[in-house]
Amino acid sequence: MTHTITCPSGLTGVLRGMKVREERVLTDRKLAKSGGQLDALLSACWEQTLETGPYDFGGQKLDWGRVLQGDRFYALLQLRALTYGPEYAFSVGCQNVSCRARFEWELDLNELPVRTLSPESLDRFSGGNRFETTLPDAGAKLWFKLFTGADERKLPQLRRSAGDRLLSAMLGQRVVEIEGVSPKEKRRYLEELSLRDADHLVDEFDRVDCGVDTALEVECPECFTVQEVELPFDQGFFLPGKSRASRRRARASSSLS
Ligand SMILES: [Zn+2]
Repeated sequence: MTHTITCPSGLTGVLRGMKVREERVLTDRKLAKSGGQLDALLSACWEQTLETGPYDFGGQKLDWGRVLQGDRFYALLQLRALTYGPEYAFSVGCQNVSCRARFEWELDLNELPVRTLSPESLDRFSGGNRFETTLPDAGAKLWFKLFTGADERKLPQLRRSAGDRLLSAMLGQRVVEIEGVSPKEKRRYLEELSLRDADHLVDEFDRVDCGVDTALEVECPECFTVQEVELPFDQGFFLPGKSRASRRRARASSSLS
């Protein structure tokens, strides 16, 4: 089954559902370690590019490393929906400490709100991926970029190495230049940033970016507490059969003994 999809930036192409052979991509440990799993999956299932949107691939094959994070995630959601249908169920643990019930939550992936890339952002992105803002406390101008697949690949490594300096490390990945600050001083400058300025930056990143909103409001069926959870995005998202396989194995081994 194939389907034409239009990503939040306008990138349009033909996507097909996953085949049995894609399981190898998802369970390949080497690929998982290199962070190349999602790129390999998208490349395998993206059959044809119809509109390049803000990207210039120089007439070559689409390079997922250069595609915006928001587009990549949208394409992955569509791939999931195309392969298994748009309904997605997962298990949630109630956050109310006096309840702690575990319940199933189901949603339609096509109903998640999508933010498209604004014409201004499209211009800035294709003109070198530079976005300008002014810090409200420090008063300095700075320039930042939107994340692409290549930046996304560096995040697991960054999380491991940044330790308790994760916020400034994350900001450092995004911020390309600060007015009056040399590249060598950038990291130290970001460490000294007021939290109000940091908060402003994160808001700005969100405001100009495109993507899919994955913060969900769910209600516990036991105590009716409404809570916010993030859409779980792990191996089970693409291989829902894994839990079925382990149930089968458990049954098989108990019937053997
Ligand atoms: Zn509850």
